[in-house]
Amino acid sequence: MQIVETYIHNLLPYGIFTLITSVIVFLFSLNLVMKGFKTRLVRAAFLFCLSLLAWLFCAGLMIITPDYAFASFLARTYFLGWLLIPVSFLYVAYVFARRMDIYLYILLAVGTVLACLALFAPVHAVHYNYFGFYPKLLFPWNIISNTYYFSAVALGLLVLYGEYRKAETNSRRNQTRLLWLGMSAGFLIAISETMYVISGAAGLQKSLVTGAMFAENLALQSLMIVMYVLVILAYTWALKGTVRVLLPFRNALWLLAFLVPMSFIVSFIFYRFGKPLFPWGQLGILVALFFLTYAILRYRLINITEIFQRLLVYLLLAGAFFGIWIVFIIGLSPDSTQILLSILYALIVVALFNPLHTLVQRFVDRLVFPRQFNYRKTILDVSMKAVSVLDYNMLIEIVRDTVLNTVKALSFGLLVYEEDNDSYVPAAVHGVPQENITSLPGMHDLVRFLRLANREIFREELEDGSAVVSRELLETFDAFRATLIIPMPYKGSLKGILCIGDRNTGDIYTRRDVELFRILANHIVIALENACLYELAIRDGLTKLYISRFFHQRISEEIANTIRARRQLSLLMIDIDHFKAINDTHGHQAGDLVLRGISNIISEQVRLVDIVSRYGGEEFAVILPETDNVEAAAVAERIRKKIEVAAFSGKIRGTVSIGIATLDGKITSGEIDFDRIQSRPAMRSKVEGVKIELIRRADESLYAAKAEGRNLCRNGGVIHMK
Ligand code: GH3
Ligand code: MG
Ligand code: MG
Repeated sequence: MQIVETYIHNLLPYGIFTLITSVIVFLFSLNLVMKGFKTRLVRAAFLFCLSLLAWLFCAGLMIITPDYAFASFLARTYFLGWLLIPVSFLYVAYVFARRMDIYLYILLAVGTVLACLALFAPVHAVHYNYFGFYPKLLFPWNIISNTYYFSAVALGLLVLYGEYRKAETNSRRNQTRLLWLGMSAGFLIAISETMYVISGAAGLQKSLVTGAMFAENLALQSLMIVMYVLVILAYTWALKGTVRVLLPFRNALWLLAFLVPMSFIVSFIFYRFGKPLFPWGQLGILVALFFLTYAILRYRLINITEIFQRLLVYLLLAGAFFGIWIVFIIGLSPDSTQILLSILYALIVVALFNPLHTLVQRFVDRLVFPRQFNYRKTILDVSMKAVSVLDYNMLIEIVRDTVLNTVKALSFGLLVYEEDNDSYVPAAVHGVPQENITSLPGMHDLVRFLRLANREIFREELEDGSAVVSRELLETFDAFRATLIIPMPYKGSLKGILCIGDRNTGDIYTRRDVELFRILANHIVIALENACLYELAIRDGLTKLYISRFFHQRISEEIANTIRARRQLSLLMIDIDHFKAINDTHGHQAGDLVLRGISNIISEQVRLVDIVSRYGGEEFAVILPETDNVEAAAVAERIRKKIEVAAFSGKIRGTVSIGIATLDGKITSGEIDFDRIQSRPAMRSKVEGVKIELIRRADESLYAAKAEGRNLCRNGGVIHMK
């Protein structure tokens, strides 16, 4: 009778607790099922939950059942759970973390060995319940598994605590670590849970639990909690470097080396003097699930919001359709027509379902998930611009504004690869002190890291004590005020680097943000590459001026604009004097230098809107939109003088002759009015005519300048529209 009472007091609540835990695990698995098994991750997590479920459910039933035959039947399924848990756990581990910490590997190996040993435990427990004794063999396992269990829990708590303190640990490495700890905790807690069955049996043996024993037990458990709190505090101090003696504990190995013996001692005291009345194991499983859920939500490993989103859409749709059916078909229509109306209604639903579904989905997206909606819009915007904008500088501005507006980053830096000097040059920067902005050489540590790893890198990865961190890397993060750096690869080489600072809202960057950045980076790199190719196609390699094909295209456009707006446009034709002689005296390479020097002078002397091109070998054409003849003459004279006094490569001197011609777009007769000309070919041929005339005039003046002795400007005057 006494045994039965103790059984009811000790084991029954324990068994019920186990069953409740299994219900929670079941609900969790159901959530995974809803998601659909599209990813390996979900499959793995589901498998893990399923094994836990089988195991927990059988354990719970086994404990509460008074029938030995049934209990021993359950024990077999229970074993199956034991086999499944380590297997599925390994699979989860494999999927989650292909790059893992060696210490956590060791932790898992020890856990697996213990799990195999623990296989025997339930047999003993059941055995004891019905035969009144249990084998001595069990003694050491209890301490060992408790040690392991508490170490794992403590480590998991420490990492969670570190997460809470830093609130920024979203690097892959830390995700891996967190998951590992959560999983190890859950798995190993499960082992000690088995041990609890034995301990419970031990409690049964003592048969009467006195108040004093209970108090003693509580005191011991409290002592253990206090000790873990102390460890957590020590860990914080170690992280901060406040207490220098604790600094070695930043390293996972040392932390283990400290925790395991400590847990061993506590477990021993616990075992020797305490009574395991509290269902620690169940608590542990809940903790493990908490870890798992936390990690999933925190890092969006499984997209819970998406599940919710889909659910909401279908609920709304189902609600609307069902509501209409209930109210109008069943509620208001006469009985005789209900069937017919229902069929008709079903047909209408089928026809309307798809368009309505899209509508509701968009509505839910915009209303409930504005951020995701914005992200999709951003990607769409950037990809549209990426294909339509060819101007390099404009493109860079668009990129900067997009990143700053979408993610609300405090700072931003876009570095673009320049092949000429093998370095990454800042193309757009925001929120970074001027003195910090520098180019990164091709052999910079950050560049090498990004080339090798080809993935994003978070600053806190570098703060991680165990990683070998180069100072160069940290300095770059600091210089650009970056939290996150994203590589921009294109066709196997690193074309650019995106540095992104903290969010001004203080939020951390989530997995989804990183995905967005990577998509943006891909679009940007393609767009930049396009812009570069276009630049290459329209510019001359030696002088970097526009090529003559581009000149001919632009001058036609400019002439059309000038006539339409009734403005003026001037053209300068420039030819280097006796360039053959320069080549002959100093060689062709020196000649090239002079060509480049003169090109630079011309570009510097004109406005940004003027179009300077290399017309022929050593001839240049400059289009000056909205410039009258007097102004053009002044510009020409300025250019001539600047070149006259310049010395190239130290000593070589050169002069130029310039021919000037101007077009006045004002119509003097009614004959040629562009607004009235309807046919495009007619318009085009008029423009071509004006263009030939303008170039001829400038050319003639140039030859006049040559004939009059060179180093001169000659004016071909103004062409008036008739
Ligand atoms: P002039 O004052 O009458 O213009 O005399 P010039 O010697 O400049 O005569 P011309 O315009 O006929 O000479 C063109 C020379 O420019 C011929 C060619 O050797 C040289 N040249 C053309 N393109 C290049 C180039 O890309 N590099 C170099 N170094 N020389 C070039
Ligand atoms: Mg010449
Ligand atoms: Mg010439």
